[in-house]
Amino acid sequence: MNTWSAIAAASMLIAAAMSGLYWRERQRRLLLSQEMDGLNKQLSIKSTGDAMPGLLTRAVFDTALARKSQKVDGGGGSFGVLYVALDNFVLLNDAFGNEAGDRLLKDVSRRLSLSNGAKTQACHIGVGEFALIVEGGQHSASASAQRVSDALAVPFTYEAIRAQLTCSIGIAVYPDHGAISKLLGNAALAMRSVKLNGGSDFCLYDPKMGLEVREQALLFNDLRSALDKGEFELYFQPKIDAISLQVTGAEALLRWHHPERGLVSPVVFIPLAEQYGLIGPIGHWVIEEACRKAARWREQGLRMRVAVNISGYQMREDDLVNRIEAALQRNGIQPERFTCEITESVAMEDTKVTQLTFEKMRDAGFHVSIDDFGTGYSSLAALRKLPARELKIDRAFVSDLEESEDARSIAQSIVNLATALNLRVVAEGVETAGQRDLLVAMGCNELQGFLFSMPMPAYELERLALHEHQPDEMEFRKSLFSETYLGKLR
Ligand code: C2E
Ligand code: MG
Ligand code: MG
Repeated sequence: MNTWSAIAAASMLIAAAMSGLYWRERQRRLLLSQEMDGLNKQLSIKSTGDAMPGLLTRAVFDTALARKSQKVDGGGGSFGVLYVALDNFVLLNDAFGNEAGDRLLKDVSRRLSLSNGAKTQACHIGVGEFALIVEGGQHSASASAQRVSDALAVPFTYEAIRAQLTCSIGIAVYPDHGAISKLLGNAALAMRSVKLNGGSDFCLYDPKMGLEVREQALLFNDLRSALDKGEFELYFQPKIDAISLQVTGAEALLRWHHPERGLVSPVVFIPLAEQYGLIGPIGHWVIEEACRKAARWREQGLRMRVAVNISGYQMREDDLVNRIEAALQRNGIQPERFTCEITESVAMEDTKVTQLTFEKMRDAGFHVSIDDFGTGYSSLAALRKLPARELKIDRAFVSDLEESEDARSIAQSIVNLATALNLRVVAEGVETAGQRDLLVAMGCNELQGFLFSMPMPAYELERLALHEHQPDEMEFRKSLFSETYLGKLR
């Protein structure tokens, strides 16, 4: 090939590559714009036409908004709009049925209509979503939002049902936060921002929130195809027996290898997956993959329990336990070697469906662990009823152990409570030898944390177990799989 034909061939290759890139980018933009349309549709404020006690119709509410803004334009001052979204309405509706859900919405409406005085102007805007006009500037609108939260925090009680609601509130103030035509939309963006940060709070609109929501839309768009593209991987972090320092099990922690962003933390994408209905298939994959890895370890002669985090959504799936049983059977793993980690806040959800799943888990023989214990509001009676075998002390108490007397008292109380209820106690997030010594002295049964090992890919855990690669921490090296490893050598 002469020089010119070589250059021509190279140009054609570059052109082909560029056009591939162009089409990929175009496709991505198209998907993104579809995603944004969907999001905007969700954000666009539509009247539901429902008649709710004490609330204005949407048309009357809009007129009231327009009048208020004209008054401010003419005479100064300001007013706010609160966008109130019930965090767990869909869950409660699913759990108690539509009739109870309707009743609950009506009672919420009544409370909202009185939350800021008898003349509160409010309307129902979407499923479990409301808008309120409140007096004053940013400070007083925030105080009104606090009053709404307080009004809804009081449990709703119907015969045998006791529903505890939380809400996310976005606040936009006129004229500080833009034109009147954008006010409700901006309050909705602020509400979304609260939800993205865990919900159950309120915040004022900030122009950056548009970007934040757009960023989430981009991430969500990629998340939808992550499973099909094989971008998920399970990392594992060992749980160590506090006395023998031997590994008793490994917790599966999900990681997302994003093609451009690199490794994305589950703290970022699990809430997104939960919020937009993707956690179902992702959760199934996690269970299947954890079982596959556990089967492989067993083949290598490693005997340990495998733990999987189960989300609130999964606890409400009626076939969850059957699915786990099938995955265990396919991979030849005994049910008692499988641990389901369920956060305290989900475990304490007093819904029939969640409690039924717990019963099924007990009947199936799984090991149930209450994760992040100490951060929720457990009642002793509810805790006693759960078929749990272990409590995991939340990292927040462990990290402060050496400095804070309060953290030590809380950790000790959790250990005492667990002992009284015949539960094992695992401390998570152990980073220092000082924390380890305190926890062992308190009577903790198992420890987990960076002191022993970071979460790592399954093959690395396997290599560590077979001593092909030595970790830095002495405790970990001495203890790791010694029983099974020695068994293998013999
Ligand atoms: P978690 O179940 O409480 O997991 C413990 C978290 O603490 C993990 O974060 C772990 O990497 C981190 N950690 C462990 N030891 C230490 C330590 O010594 N110091 C510090 N600072 N952190 C430590 P990760 O992997 O980012 O996971 C965060 C949360 O995401 C998990 O909290 C769990 O609630 C959720 N998650 C992870 N994987 C899954 C999954 O497959 N399904 C569901 N539903 N949730 C998951
Ligand atoms: Mg966990
Ligand atoms: Mg935890």
